[in-house]
Amino acid sequence: MNPDELRAAFAGRLHTEPSEMAPFLTDWRRKWTGQALAVAQPDSAADVAAVVRWCLAAGVAIVPQGGNTGLSGGATPAAHGRAIVLSTARLNRVRAIDPVGQTITVEAGVTLQQVQEAAQGVDRLFPLSLAAQGSCTIGGNLATNAGGVQVLRFGNARELCLGLEVVTAEGELWDGLRALRKDNTGYDLRDLFIGSEGTLGVITAAVLKLFPRPAAQVAAFVAVASPDDALQLLSRAQARLGASLTAFELLSETCLQLVERHVSAARRPLAQASPWYVLMEASAADDDAALGAQVEAVLEAAFEAGLAIDAAVSTSLAQFRSLWALREDISESQGAEGPTIKHDIALPIARIPDFIATTLAEVERQWPALRPVVFGHLGDGNLHFNFSPPAAGMPAHEFTALERPVNQRVHDAVHAAAGSISAEHGLGLLRRDEAARYKSPVELRLMRAVKAALDPMNLMNPGKLLAPVPIHDTETSS
Ligand code: FAD
Ligand code: ZN
Repeated sequence: MNPDELRAAFAGRLHTEPSEMAPFLTDWRRKWTGQALAVAQPDSAADVAAVVRWCLAAGVAIVPQGGNTGLSGGATPAAHGRAIVLSTARLNRVRAIDPVGQTITVEAGVTLQQVQEAAQGVDRLFPLSLAAQGSCTIGGNLATNAGGVQVLRFGNARELCLGLEVVTAEGELWDGLRALRKDNTGYDLRDLFIGSEGTLGVITAAVLKLFPRPAAQVAAFVAVASPDDALQLLSRAQARLGASLTAFELLSETCLQLVERHVSAARRPLAQASPWYVLMEASAADDDAALGAQVEAVLEAAFEAGLAIDAAVSTSLAQFRSLWALREDISESQGAEGPTIKHDIALPIARIPDFIATTLAEVERQWPALRPVVFGHLGDGNLHFNFSPPAAGMPAHEFTALERPVNQRVHDAVHAAAGSISAEHGLGLLRRDEAARYKSPVELRLMRAVKAALDPMNLMNPGKLLAPVPIHDTETSS
């Protein structure tokens, strides 16, 4: 490939120097590093189409990349270096915002936080919320069908998207930017591209749903004895608070200890330690006092029923934020503790307490040194079922050698409980082959048929999500 030819094919930036390309070649966890011929940063959807057409003619594969915060290796090019990275960093315009129709139209490279702020600017809410929001992009959120902490009330990225603009794998521009709440006119192409992790086309813009901005928000940090009690509390909170219940998160005492250790501003909200905690959020259009009273009523009933041990309820925005920070900072605190063995799993909610008890006991029996770090979005049936090395430490190679057997043990248990081995982070490279172990031949065949139909030259993020047949040139060095 001659980079000058590609440079001439579109407007925007093209990086070819190793030092310029380096940030695009390693993922956020520094688990994967690859090589690329170039990093293209087109300025518009038409430019994206020009880049794709050039790559098609030259037989060069394309790895779409947004904020590069993905946790599954989907945005990192392979080690062979024969692909380009297509970064959406310069597709960064808010095209339109309609507070009456409650929609916003943004380009793919706009960060999640910028969308939240634009919505706030017209007194509306864009509810997708996750710890990487300052860096992750709407294109990446849709390509991975991101979840986060408000899914319980508002749904994941898929449910927040009304329309898409996509450059297909053949370099055509599909304008599906419909702002319609109802549209039953055939196969849902939008939903095909959402969650496709850059393997079917490049998302260049999206129409997203906005919501009224809540006037009141209350967070409660509740000590509970067990995940079973947390689940019963969830059920009562749902019955009592209805749509006002906007988040319901579970975390273990170990998680809280990690945050205390690694985040200097973190303060334990309750005097007594407890094996488990719930962080519950309620929001409403009404005033804080009424909402606070409703939350207090739920908690009082829970105390009486012996489901809650102690609770702290926020009475100011500062308290609300500091309670949330205890949950949001777990992931980074676990990272600061050393390497991690991660699982991002979904289960039928009612089976979660039994799953946690049985699987932790099994892992402990076989690998007693591992430290469980279990937290997640209990209200969505989604757990981050992670492990850290023991507090006393463990040689890195010994810990790394456990990753695969522990993954298999946990994922087998997830599969047996009718769950999913990737709830919100996608398959990328990390879970690609593992997912193929559990999917039925029919499901895999249909997925391959979709890939072959939309990307006949296999140029869009090849080797991610689905292994190519036969397997070759797909692994990045790690
Ligand atoms: P990237 O990492 O750049 O790309 C991710 C995938 O999408 C790749 O396969 C890439 O090829 C593809 N892609 C990117 N842009 C496009 C596009 N325009 N068109 C087509 N394909 C594209 N995720 C959650 O779901 N919930 C969480 O709570 C959560 N918390 C996180 C917390 C932290 C601290 C971090 C680092 C990550 C977290 N994530 C979470 C994961 C990550 O932030 C999300 O997956 C996010 O949606 C990725 O967006 P991105 O722009 O960084 O995408
Ligand atoms: Zn999560």
